[in-house]
Amino acid sequence: MDSRLLDLLVCPICKGSLQFDAAAQELICPRDKLAYPVRDDIPLMLVDLARDMTLPADAMPSPAPAATAEPAA
Ligand SMILES: [Zn+2]
Repeated sequence: MDSRLLDLLVCPICKGSLQFDAAAQELICPRDKLAYPVRDDIPLMLVDLARDMTLPADAMPSPAPAATAEPAA
């Protein structure tokens, strides 16, 4: 994403500056703990689309351990 564009973007809630997570393609507001999605280099600065970072990602149900079953020797 264009870093000049990033400089212009602020959080719609707190008007603070944002951090771009290139790996996740998200713009992060550290104050509100929200991550705004970036689609095709277009930041979607909508609170409705923002991901609440206070919710632990690893709270999602993990796959059944049976999937890692080892072949019998
Ligand atoms: Zn904010």
